[in-house]
Amino acid sequence: MNAPTTDILKQHLIDPVICIRCNTCEETCPIGAITHDSRNYVVDPAICNGCNACIAPCPTGSIDNWRRVRRTEAYSLDAQLEWDELPEEQDVGDDQAAPVAGADFSPPPVDATRGSVVAPGSASRPAVNVYTLRQPATATVAGNFRVTEVGREYDTHHVVLDFGSVPFPVLEGQSIGIIPSGADARGRPHHARQYSVASPRDGERPRYNNLSLTVKRVTSDHDGQPVRGEASNYVCDLAKGDTVKVIGPFGSTFLMPDDPATHLLMVCTGTGSAPMRAMTERRRRLRKPGDGRLMLFFGARTQAELPYFGPLTQLPKDFIDINLAYSRTPGQPKKYVQDLMRERAADVAALLRDPLTHLYVCGLKGMEDGVMDALRYAADSHGLSWKELHPRLRAEGRLHLETY
Ligand code: NAP
Repeated sequence: MNAPTTDILKQHLIDPVICIRCNTCEETCPIGAITHDSRNYVVDPAICNGCNACIAPCPTGSIDNWRRVRRTEAYSLDAQLEWDELPEEQDVGDDQAAPVAGADFSPPPVDATRGSVVAPGSASRPAVNVYTLRQPATATVAGNFRVTEVGREYDTHHVVLDFGSVPFPVLEGQSIGIIPSGADARGRPHHARQYSVASPRDGERPRYNNLSLTVKRVTSDHDGQPVRGEASNYVCDLAKGDTVKVIGPFGSTFLMPDDPATHLLMVCTGTGSAPMRAMTERRRRLRKPGDGRLMLFFGARTQAELPYFGPLTQLPKDFIDINLAYSRTPGQPKKYVQDLMRERAADVAALLRDPLTHLYVCGLKGMEDGVMDALRYAADSHGLSWKELHPRLRAEGRLHLETY
């Protein structure tokens, strides 16, 4: 380790105004330097070594903030957790700043994430952070429809937001933030919750300035304990005509290729289907002979709980190859998306072999390992080497993961 000699450090900070609390940075940090409370994500100056592994995966860029401070006056975790905005840059003289206390200047770990940190080569250029917590856009609810069976304990909604004459440019694969109305227990505004856009770039209704979201009402946490999701309940209860504060758009890598000859291999669970719906609909609207292939693996507990089941089954079989995995159908064996990918390994491998194929994985964090193993299996059992293919897919912006 090269111990820095300067008294000035370039302290790594997260901008609370832009941060959408998606946890990506905390998950990405290889040394556990990032932590959070119910309000802010913060970087521990005593641990962060300035490796930059967290910078590219951040969907908003809130992670890429630095302040030159005297080493003895570095902002503590407690101070950062109280912030509503970043402090102004201090004048600390001309000393060259070391990135962080005790910094090790080794290069960023190349393998910090499994997916691409670059967009597909032919993707359109996205707009990001056009609207912020300080200056959100206001949208009007144009519709709120339940897309899972009525009368069950689960409840997923398709919500259409209209921006009127306010420009809100999005690309398929991007997300937006919704700020629930009201305040938290300390009287501060709720922080925004991130949702993937479920409609294509030209709108849920083409040429109308609108977009849609797929939102599941959260009533329990990952361990099944009862919990009321502030934002998801707010969104699911919105009525037509209500106004909503929206920030974003976010995301500059999980984007679809614009080249129509490319193939899309999409894997999702539950509401992780939102970006797949956007990409599929984009392709459907522009469809012409000779376009690339679409293959979808989509997992849900039951058919009744699978968002958009009806519309999905209406799509032509020669347009998209749909594989539905149900994990809790009474009397049926539990199936996950990765099980179906293994069953269809020959077809998955044919797509993997083709340099025009782009992969998208979105949904539960837990599915990532199983899906990566299934891709490895499909490749290695059909004359390809996943060890060689995986880094190539990543480097070429052809493997995109978004899991929570
Ligand atoms: P869910 O209903 O809890 O689960 C969907 C399916 O995935 C179920 O069949 C579930 O099976 C299965 N599953 C569980 N563990 C799995 C594993 N290790 N491998 C493969 N499949 C597995 O899903 P959800 O509540 O809709 O949540 C979807 C996730 O997508 C959430 O974490 C959400 O944050 C995320 N997401 C949402 C959006 C959006 O715009 N709304 C965008 C991106 C990501 P069992 O439970 O029966 O085992």
